[in-house]
Amino acid sequence: MPAGYIEIDVELCKDCKLCMSVCPHQLIGTSDRLNQKGYYPAHFTEKNLKKEERRCTGCGLCAISCPEIAIEVYRA
Ligand code: SF4
Ligand code: SF4
Repeated sequence: MPAGYIEIDVELCKDCKLCMSVCPHQLIGTSDRLNQKGYYPAHFTEKNLKKEERRCTGCGLCAISCPEIAIEVYRA
């Protein structure tokens, strides 16, 4: 299974939580910091993990589901 990684543009996020609901591994949570629009943006919970420790497969479901196009997916 390939390792994946996502980056979320927190300033585009409107906290709709769609990405959280579709991730097969529940790897997206909510940040405890407000963005400039006043939302608590989505947060990739494996952001600070090493590649071999991540469960993200880079499936892209989160990015496809995001209405704000705030998520970029990378596969290694
Ligand atoms: S790419 Fe797939 S596994 Fe990785 S965070 Fe998004 S939905 Fe979850
Ligand atoms: S789907 Fe997009 S806008 Fe909605 S919470 Fe996730 S990153 Fe934010």
